[in-house]
Amino acid sequence: MSAKIIAICNQKGGTGKTTTAVNLGTALAAAGKRVLLIDLDPQGNSTSGMGLDKAKEARSIYNVIIEEIPIRQAIKPYPEVQPTKDSEEKTAREMSNLENVMSNLETGEKLMSNQKTAEKLTSSLDIDLASEMSNLPKNSKKKDAEKLMSNLKSEMSNLETGEKLMSNLENVMSKQKSEMSNLIGKMSILPSNVDLTGAEIELVAVMGREYRLKKALEPIKDEYDFIIMDSPPSLGLLTINSLTAATSILIPVQCEYYALEGLTQLMNTIALVRDNLNPALEIEGVLLTMADYRTRLTQEVIAEVRQHFKDKVYRTVIPRNIRLTEAPSYGKPILFYDKDSIGARKYNELAEEIIGVEPAEPSFANRIKTQGTKKIAQAVEENTIVISEKIPVENQQEK
Ligand code: ATP
Ligand code: MG
Repeated sequence: MSAKIIAICNQKGGTGKTTTAVNLGTALAAAGKRVLLIDLDPQGNSTSGMGLDKAKEARSIYNVIIEEIPIRQAIKPYPEVQPTKDSEEKTAREMSNLENVMSNLETGEKLMSNQKTAEKLTSSLDIDLASEMSNLPKNSKKKDAEKLMSNLKSEMSNLETGEKLMSNLENVMSKQKSEMSNLIGKMSILPSNVDLTGAEIELVAVMGREYRLKKALEPIKDEYDFIIMDSPPSLGLLTINSLTAATSILIPVQCEYYALEGLTQLMNTIALVRDNLNPALEIEGVLLTMADYRTRLTQEVIAEVRQHFKDKVYRTVIPRNIRLTEAPSYGKPILFYDKDSIGARKYNELAEEIIGVEPAEPSFANRIKTQGTKKIAQAVEENTIVISEKIPVENQQEK
């Protein structure tokens, strides 16, 4: 079966297109789907977010669209991705921390062996240190011995902490390795590079300029379940190529003032593309991003967008989450940066929603609980009252 080709578009800047492309892509791959992530943005944020250095990529989507090189030559399987300079520096920092721990460990080991020598000496002299010390209440040697003992004790505990740290680190590393290997062969990237900056202008003079990407994808689209395309914040020819090649469009909308601003223009563009270039283009869904449930604004924007786009809005809402902001500077998708973060969990949930896995319906009692009416929830649990009214799931607070 042909891939579902999803264009992630919004001409407004910073609405979460790249964050969604990278993290939805990896979540789909982790769910066992074969995924190709295409970076169509000259900024190359998806490329660097996946750990590639766009300045060093010899072949990119530019060569595919403008020079028409065979697309397979520019596609990279994810585990082959080399870290970017930025993440190299971070890795170097992590390594130097590790080296510090190791050298602490060595010091600890030396101290241990010193202690053993001291113990041997003590026993060979047949001196009972404790009784000796109690016999010498005012002897300054007692203080020295006590100091030595307490130093030894703290070094011992340092050593234990070091060992614990090491075993934790080993666990984390082996876990990451096994997670990475789960993705082997399932996730590929078609990177952007600096050349793409000129592509918008170069495309103007090209024959069949709107269809270049669609044509390039033809020979490989059966090899994937999902092709996810990150687009630049404009409605230029790169975005038009993406919309022409796509089977559907996913629109990330940030929960902020004027969230709907610009969406009329985007809808007009979609209509134009349908009329002239790609009649089968569907709206995959509208994704609410960067929700901050502490503010009333977020609630208002969610209500407004749901009212406008109705069931086209995903049930999953991506909350504002600092881990999602941090992950790109490590060149890692959130799944490999912090898989237990709320950001990672929500992108997994979105992947499930797109694949079509229905989440378990929360019980009435739980739904009421999340809305804070504990007494009623308790009564429902205790079967002292029966509720037949359906409670909307969408008002749930995200934690
Ligand atoms: P552009 O239009 O420039 O391509 P974009 O639409 O691709 O931007 P992103 O780059 O994904 O948007 O996000 C903009 C900024 O917001 C980035 O710094 C990103 O790390 C941050 N961000 C995105 N989603 C979240 C989130 N859910 N929580 C916190 N920060 C986020
Ligand atoms: Mg982007």
